[in-house]
Amino acid sequence: MIDCIIIGAGPGGYETALYAAKKGLNVTLIEKEALGGTCLNKGCIPTKTLLYASEKMSDAKLDELGIQASKTIDLTQLQTYKNQIIAQLQKGIAASLKKAHVQVIMKEAKIMDEHHVRVEDEILEAKNIIIATGSKSIRPSFMPDLKGVMTSDELLNNDKPIQHLVIIGGGVIGVEFASIYHNLNTKITILEAKEQLLPNMDKEIAQNLKMIFKKRGIEVHTSAFVTKIEEGLNVSFMEKEALQTIACDALLVAVGRSACSDHLFEDESPLMDKGRILVNEAYQTSWPSVYAIGDVNGQLQLAHAAAAQGKNVIHHILNEKMPYDLSNTPNCVYCEPEIAAVGLSESEAKALGYEVKVSKGLTSANGKSVLSQQDRGFVKLISDAKTQKLLGAQLMCARASDMISELTLAIQCELTLEQIAHIIYPHPTISEVIQAASEN
Ligand code: NAD
Repeated sequence: MIDCIIIGAGPGGYETALYAAKKGLNVTLIEKEALGGTCLNKGCIPTKTLLYASEKMSDAKLDELGIQASKTIDLTQLQTYKNQIIAQLQKGIAASLKKAHVQVIMKEAKIMDEHHVRVEDEILEAKNIIIATGSKSIRPSFMPDLKGVMTSDELLNNDKPIQHLVIIGGGVIGVEFASIYHNLNTKITILEAKEQLLPNMDKEIAQNLKMIFKKRGIEVHTSAFVTKIEEGLNVSFMEKEALQTIACDALLVAVGRSACSDHLFEDESPLMDKGRILVNEAYQTSWPSVYAIGDVNGQLQLAHAAAAQGKNVIHHILNEKMPYDLSNTPNCVYCEPEIAAVGLSESEAKALGYEVKVSKGLTSANGKSVLSQQDRGFVKLISDAKTQKLLGAQLMCARASDMISELTLAIQCELTLEQIAHIIYPHPTISEVIQAASEN
């Protein structure tokens, strides 16, 4: 019998499959579309590829350096490059799975019961089933089927210049695409229903981002409610009780993602809530031999969280302690400047009853930030005033997504501000801002 059937080959599924195989389990991985899932095919990797290219294209400050660069971009060539990157990474995943002797089936799976999965005419039996089917872009009822109205799935494949892009939803996907297309010289308008951009992030970060975006000419409307989208395209929205209409040639709807659980079960299913598969602290569904990890359980919609949950599941199956602490999961937004956070924010720490100390370091005094023409940014450290231990960190600066790992480690190892300050930081680096913050 198969030890473990894993359904879905995104970072949750394929990383869990490799981990399980390394631990000696006999694994079958089933995928109906493409290896790599959303992250590799229509999420993290293609977005960051476009962002990387668009940053090269953005010549906002090149004149200052004496560089005269061309302002044109061949979007068809960029799409070719993006697709090459996806293909190259897919090959790498396929090779790793082959080397680890994971059986890969590229077909649709249907779960029949707690131990059986149907793949076309074949019925597979397994001791455990791990669901890692991910999520899909929400298409809200106000989203019409008109040319130019897209989710991130379609916009990622766009090879036509866009004059004016309206983005509905100023969450993670919204601000990342705003950065990409602003760099490509497209006019951007963001319509966000909540009071701030990135509603789940620290308020100070959101305010700064709005300010930086506005300074660059990106129009940001918060507390803005879309009422109508008409052919043309014309988008109407209410802001502070005033109705406004703007014309654009492309519209991105980025209002969240929902779990992919439809058509997954042949008959009965374990407990679900609005499509999310409910799980306990070991990611077990109400059917104990069936687990659900990643976006499909709706806990944390992050690739690295899915992989960590999956690895914990393998330990649970093997009756071992689960080693990954998901409460210490870093969260990164790849806009410009980058944003990264881990642990508790100031308000979360206060709500938990901590006597909170907030220490800040600014990039305006950091040599590497200044010489590389970065926008003003900061590193904010949240610590327990009594023990000095680091509880959380929020960064808004270049390389934030790289530097957050150091602070994740510091929280995991329960380091104090003083211990962080007493590390020797190489000069000149942006990481010196962490030291500056920890000394404050
Ligand atoms: P999100 O939840 O981050 O943001 C959606 C935004 O849309 C919210 O700010 C919400 O207030 C707003 N909104 C909802 N309905 C609206 C309406 N009718 N009008 C205007 N605004 C409206 O969702 P997302 O940006 O679509 O991203 C989906 C998921 O994918 C997120 O959970 C995110 O964490 C994940 N993701 C992560 C990364 C990353 O880690 N860098 C990148 C992309 C996506």
